[in-house]
Formats: sequence, structure tokens, C-alpha cells
Amino acid sequence: MTSPRRKIRIKCPQCGKKYSDWYRSSINLTLEDWAEEDLERATTSMCPHCSFKVCHDVLVVKNTVAGIVHETVAQRKELDSGIIEEGR
Ligand SMILES: [Zn+2]
Repeated sequence: MTSPRRKIRIKCPQCGKKYSDWYRSSINLTLEDWAEEDLERATTSMCPHCSFKVCHDVLVVKNTVAGIVHETVAQRKELDSGIIEEGR
């Protein structure tokens, strides 16, 4: 199941400024069809001060030719999520 949006506070790893955004902690692509840009929007945040992009640790479940794959976006891109606070 795809998680609801979760509000977060982020400290930009590049410029150190803080901002608010949201993400989803899991997305199930075997049940829903997401456009690549919507997926990008739900799993990353961009700093409004310096445009540095961070990837959140989102679990993505998807169907591939090899079967059902579970992976987290942060793992795949090896980037810091920068999250300092999570709300609901
Ligand atoms: Zn920044």
C-alpha cells in the first residue's frame, strides 16, 4: 500500500538552511500506476534556497521482469535524506 503524505522538516545538506516539505514513506507500483515525475516529487525534496535535491528513504515496490522488487530510493541513489523532523 502507498503511504499518505508525511510532513517533514529538512536541513539542507548543502547550504544548511531548513525548510518544510512532505514525502511518502512507501509507494506500491504493483497496485498503482505513477508517472515518473510524480514518483520523483513524492520521494525527493528540493531546497528552496540553493536547489539542492535530497532523496528520502522511500520503499518502492514494483513489478519487473525479474519479479516484484523492493528498494528504497535513498539506497539506490546513495544520498542523504536531510530529514531532521517528521510529523504526520
Ligand atoms: Zn540548500
